[in-house]
Amino acid sequence: MGSVLDFVECPRCKFEEAMLDCFYKTGEEYLFCERCGFTHKTELVRNKNGDIIFDKDKRVKFTEKTENPTGAFAIQMKGAIATTVGNYSIKKQFLDDLKKQFSKIKSATYTERSNGIWYQVDFIKKTRKKHPNSRGVMFGKK
Ligand SMILES: [Zn+2]
Repeated sequence: MGSVLDFVECPRCKFEEAMLDCFYKTGEEYLFCERCGFTHKTELVRNKNGDIIFDKDKRVKFTEKTENPTGAFAIQMKGAIATTVGNYSIKKQFLDDLKKQFSKIKSATYTERSNGIWYQVDFIKKTRKKHPNSRGVMFGKK
């Protein structure tokens, strides 16, 4: 399944490099902001087997889902190649889960907002710094 990855401004926190993954064959889109965790999915309606459902005019239907969580995270487990990104809603629960897995975690960062400013917290190093407005890797910027 092919997709084109682009960077767009997050509609929620205005981070300039929210990831927009467009699946050009299906028209599905997946937007994820690594700063505020905002997620917007445009997905084809499928049945439980994953097959696309068509209406009586043989047209597909899309569903849209928006998540406005508390913050975002990026976690790499020991021995894992990939970094898992996602968002969390209840900070205490999220941190409790991280603490339980502490010995298995290679690196973990998460974001939090205070006084209108987004910070990135390093869970292992116990440091906190201001989250930048962009990482400077955005391509196609006009
Ligand atoms: Zn955002």
